Amino acid sequence: TEEALRQAQKMEAVGQLTGGIAHDFNNMLTGVIGAVDIMKRRLASGRFDDLDRFLEVASVSAQRAAALTQRLLAFSRRQSLDSRPVHINALVGSLHDLLSRTLGESVALDIACDEQVGWGTADANQLESAILNLVINARDAMPTGGRLTLATRPAVLKAQDAAGTPEAKPGRYVVIAVTDTGTGMTADVLSKVFEPFFTTKPVGLGTGLGLSMVYGFARQSDGHVAITSAPGEGTTVELFLPAAEPPGETDADLPARLAGGEG
Ligand code: ADP
Repeated sequence: TEEALRQAQKMEAVGQLTGGIAHDFNNMLTGVIGAVDIMKRRLASGRFDDLDRFLEVASVSAQRAAALTQRLLAFSRRQSLDSRPVHINALVGSLHDLLSRTLGESVALDIACDEQVGWGTADANQLESAILNLVINARDAMPTGGRLTLATRPAVLKAQDAAGTPEAKPGRYVVIAVTDTGTGMTADVLSKVFEPFFTTKPVGLGTGLGLSMVYGFARQSDGHVAITSAPGEGTTVELFLPAAEPPGETDADLPARLAGGEG
């Protein structure tokens, strides 16, 4: 069936990716093992010349392997998040210039922050890239122009509110909502958007990883993502993050956090 074919193609893509990485990693390990073997033999036969050269080869290969796994970790977003209280409206406001440049001239940008929104718990850097991902998706959905609204609001979820979004836990949240007036999505597309590598964009333009990264980030932050969309009308993606207590006024990090920095 079509579904099975799609699944197979996805597995093929994952296979190619991991195969390439495993090959590179293996080359680096071969460098380390080879250098260590030579050093062992030389030490056994009492030859101490040139040892520093082989040590250097082993060290450089090991460092390259470590750098590769670091990149992989960053890619899979499983590195530990630096979650702290973030002043949500300050962070959103600080993105204005970057976002309007990203959107270009044909898309109007509205930033509508609710004054009631205070602090949320999140990794500020990852939150910025999540918002950027959502804004790029919104832009791509409006090829002939439109309006993007980036809004914040507080939300209190009760147990029964979570019905449509099983991951949603009751509690106090800050919500960051990205609304576009673009193409919207059919129910079929909507049901697949969080799958890694799912994309409707032409080859080379979409990776199919944007929304799965946003989803992973939200879940790791004890939040969730809700999407409403209608074909021809547009889409709203809401990122729910747990509300945080304001940090103490004497906190030395406060100015940096207010500025939307990492703290
Ligand atoms: P990519 O953007 O690389 O395709 P994503 O995971 O970010 O990967 O998105 C997956 C798919 O979800 C997109 O290809 C598109 O079909 C759909 N999508 C995401 N955001 C929107 C949006 N704002 N409007 C319409 N469709 C969207």
